[in-house]
Amino acid sequence: MIRKNEDLLATLESTDVGKPIAQARNDVRTTARYFEYYGGMVDKVLGSTIPVRWGALDMTLREPYGVSAQIVPWNYPLSMASRGIAPALAAGNCVVAKPAEDASMSLLALARLAHEAGLPAGGFNVVTGFGHEAGAALVRHPLVSHITFSGSVATGSAIMTAAAESIKPVSLELGGKSPNIVFPDADLDAAAAHIARVIVLNSGQTCNTCSRLLVDATIEDVLLAKVKEKFDQIRMGDPLSGADMGPVISAKQKKTIESFLETAQQDGAVMSRHGRTPEDAALSEGFFVRPTVVNNVQPQHRVFREEIFGPVLAVSRFRDEAEAVQLANDSEYGLNAGIFTRDIERAIRLAHEVQAGQIYVNGFGTGGSVEVPFGGMKKSGFNREKGLEGFLNYTQTKSVTIHFKTEA
Ligand code: NAD
Repeated sequence: MIRKNEDLLATLESTDVGKPIAQARNDVRTTARYFEYYGGMVDKVLGSTIPVRWGALDMTLREPYGVSAQIVPWNYPLSMASRGIAPALAAGNCVVAKPAEDASMSLLALARLAHEAGLPAGGFNVVTGFGHEAGAALVRHPLVSHITFSGSVATGSAIMTAAAESIKPVSLELGGKSPNIVFPDADLDAAAAHIARVIVLNSGQTCNTCSRLLVDATIEDVLLAKVKEKFDQIRMGDPLSGADMGPVISAKQKKTIESFLETAQQDGAVMSRHGRTPEDAALSEGFFVRPTVVNNVQPQHRVFREEIFGPVLAVSRFRDEAEAVQLANDSEYGLNAGIFTRDIERAIRLAHEVQAGQIYVNGFGTGGSVEVPFGGMKKSGFNREKGLEGFLNYTQTKSVTIHFKTEA
C-alpha cells in the first residue's frame, strides 16, 4: 500500500516539510522497507533456553510492552515514525504516534492506508497537536507503557523526566553536531561531493548531517574550493518542481539559522554563501537559506558547538590526527562521524577513537538501509533504532522456569 501510494505520500511530505520531491520519494521507499523488514520478523521472535540445575528448565519469552508512544519531529515525519511503528507492531505492541505540529499530513495518510490494508482498528493511531499538550498528555497517559522519542535534547530531557515518574522505558534519538574529518590522502573529489550533498540534504535539517568539517590544514584551500563549486551548482526552488533544495520548514527556523550566522560573523569566522535562490517572483517570500560555508571556526564558537539545523558548514582545521580526534570529540553530541582517508589502519583506529553511534568511512550513511542499528552517544541519545537491535527495544524479556523434577 505504501509503495502503491508513493505519489500521494511523497507529495504530502514534500509540501509539508519543503524537501525536494526526489528526497520525499526516497523517504517513502525507506518507509516501505521498514514494514517489509520488520514484517519479516513477526514469526522469528526467538527466546533462549538457559541451562540451570537438573530438574528445572528455563526459557525466555519476548513479550510486547502494550502501547508504544512514538513522538517524532518534523524533518522526516513519515520515515522516522515508521522506523518505530513497524518494529513496535511486529513485536505485538499497539502504537500511538504523534507527529510534530509543523508536519502531520503524511502520518495521517499512513494511518488511513493502514486501515484500508486491514490493520485492526486501534492497532495504529495518530494523534496530532502541540508538544506541550498532545505530546505531554501521551507521555503521561497511564495506558502508554513505552516511549520512543526523536527530537531535540530539551524535549528529550522533559520526556525522560515525565517517564521517570511512572517508570516507563524510553528510547531517545536526539540532535547532533557531527564532524566529517578529511585527511590529505583522501579522494578529495569524492569527499567534497559527499560533504556538500549531505549538508544540503533536506536543507540541512537532518539529525545526522555532518555540519562540522574538520580538515587537515595542508588541504583546506583545495578541499573548500571543491565543496564551494558543488554548492554553487545548487538550484533552490519549489520542492515539487525538481529543485535541488527547497525552503527550510518555517520562518522561525530561517530566523534561527540567520541568527547563528550573525553570531559567527561577530566571532570572527569568515562566511561565504552559495547556490542560486529562486528567480520566480512567486517564491520571493519563501524560507530559502543558501548553502553557507563558515570558515576559521574555533571550538569556542557557537557554530562549532550548537546544532543549527540548516545548510551551514562550520569549517575548522587540524594539524595532525590527534588534534582531529580531539576536535571531533569536543562536542556534547555523538550521533555520527565521517572519516575520509585511504589509510585503512587510520580509518579503523579513528572508528574506535571517535565518540559517535555511527562512523562512516569514505562516504555517508549506509545506503539508506534499515538493517543497521542507528542511534547516538552522549547527548545524542541512547538505545538503538533500526536493525535487529531496534526490534528488541519493543520487547521485554520474560524468564519462565519449569520445575519438572520436584525436590522433596
Ligand atoms: P522538538 O523536540 O521540538 O519536537 C519533537 C516532537 O516532540 C514534536 O512532535 C513535538 O510536538 C513533541 N514535543 C514537544 N514538546 C513535548 C513535550 N513536552 N512532551 C511530549 N512531546 C513534546 O524537536 P524538533 O524541533 O521538531 O526537531 C528537531 C530536533 O530533532 C533536532 O535537534 C534534531 O537533531 C532532532 N532529530 C533527531 C533525530 C535522531 O534520530 N537522532 C532525528 C530527527 C531529528
